[in-house]
Amino acid sequence: MSHKDEVVIDCKNLWKVFGRRADEAMKAITEKGLGKLEVRDQYDCVVGVQDASFTVGRGEIFCIMGLSGSGKSTLIRHVNRLIEPTSGQLFIEGMDVNALSAKDLREVRAEKIGMVFQNMALMPHRTVLDNVSFSQEVRGHDRKERHENAMRAIDAVDLNGWDQKYPDELSGGMQQRVGLARAIAADPSILLMDEPFSALDPLIRRQLQDKFMSLAAEMKKTTLFITHDLDEAIRIGDRIGIMKDGVLVQVGTPEEIVTNPIDDYVADFVAGISKLELISAGKIMEPVEAYEQRLGSVENLDEWPEAHPEHSLDDLVNLSISTQHPIVVRIEGKPIGVVTKNALLRGIQGDTELTQ
Ligand code: ADP
Ligand code: MG
Repeated sequence: MSHKDEVVIDCKNLWKVFGRRADEAMKAITEKGLGKLEVRDQYDCVVGVQDASFTVGRGEIFCIMGLSGSGKSTLIRHVNRLIEPTSGQLFIEGMDVNALSAKDLREVRAEKIGMVFQNMALMPHRTVLDNVSFSQEVRGHDRKERHENAMRAIDAVDLNGWDQKYPDELSGGMQQRVGLARAIAADPSILLMDEPFSALDPLIRRQLQDKFMSLAAEMKKTTLFITHDLDEAIRIGDRIGIMKDGVLVQVGTPEEIVTNPIDDYVADFVAGISKLELISAGKIMEPVEAYEQRLGSVENLDEWPEAHPEHSLDDLVNLSISTQHPIVVRIEGKPIGVVTKNALLRGIQGDTELTQ
């Protein structure tokens, strides 16, 4: 069993209905199958999240992606109970967060959870160091320990030398780094990130994504990461959940989402995504036997370029450019499949069906 099999965040059939008559509306939804529009018209309520279920494993980065207004922030705020569900449950390491006493909830928030949001709202009259130490002040660590932890976190986000500066002396990207340092300073096991890089310029965003990914790999934090950008979700996420109008419409690995979008909404997102790094030879190859049956026996296999099933389409393109032959896919020297140029071109379009 890998560590990722240990469930850290477990969201079960979670509903959030906003409005004064939310409970009545929820009852009507359950008993009479009322839809969103009826809920709005008859109860003056908004369904923010609709029956969402997902789990995040230990050390996993789970991205939630969707258009603005699709319910991403509402969903993530349930994890540290900034919002209480109208129906359904949310567990952290087996604890039902909505059953915690106020004291236990404070403890769980302080010890287990770090948060990063889009505009980090750093405290303007505190230095970077004091901003980063702050989350631990609430926890009552002693000053020396707080500062050591904070300096370590500042170093981790590449801001050494900036600890005595004030937030308005920093660029937007640096302020988000401070936010990230603040979130990790107290070494929480869970990170909640709500569009942390969305407001940044593309180049800075990419740098911060890289920084975050290397940190995440090192620290093995269980992360729920919200974004409206599928490219970002694919770069960062081990798995992705796609939200639409409050519904988690598809959950899967980046490859699963890109090669098998469940509906037109997901397909529209996926259409603009490069498949070159996401799809592997194993997914588009034709089994050797099938290829031989189709074309008669194949004699000159040894002259063909060879790849491993894990090789990406990008690798296959490089192999394919200098030859007229198909590519033979081998495991430990044994040919198991063939990738023709047609299959490769189809793969680049995201089509993994075996059409020759
Ligand atoms: P996202 O983060 O994906 O942009 P949100 O979770 O902020 O989406 O919002 C989802 C839906 O819930 C939207 O229709 C929004 O207007 C509604 N909503 C969010 N918060 C509240 C609230 N406190 N009261 C009423 N409606 C809300
Ligand atoms: Mg949001």
